[in-house]
Amino acid sequence: MSTICKSCGLPLWNDSQICDACSDNIKQQVKEEYKFNRREKNYQAIRWTNVTLFWIFYFLEVIFSELENGGTPSVLAVFITFWIARYFARNWYSKEENKVKSNFTKIAVTTGIYLSTFIIKQLVVLILLNLIL
Ligand SMILES: [Zn+2]
Repeated sequence: MSTICKSCGLPLWNDSQICDACSDNIKQQVKEEYKFNRREKNYQAIRWTNVTLFWIFYFLEVIFSELENGGTPSVLAVFITFWIARYFARNWYSKEENKVKSNFTKIAVTTGIYLSTFIIKQLVVLILLNLIL
């Protein structure tokens, strides 16, 4: 006598409680839950702070590269700062107790992360250039 899948009711031919198809479905659902949802209501303050800072740094990069040598701005560098800062901001946000903090706190923390990322990145580049040259 075979048992029945607890999820869909089809007969099972092994000792498991859920058939393979249902088990794959559940795995897929779990995976989607862990995927970052940038539309989450509590995340918006961080999201827009990051985007605003990206544009500020982008325009600063354009202005400075124009003043320095009339050269092309290194847009990639601006993106790298953005990606690293966003990673750490999302990391901070992923802690349950930070999700419900005030927008002011979120904006302050995100700005702090962004500025630290920028400064550390500049220092690393300087050190690397000193080592190479
Ligand atoms: Zn099933």
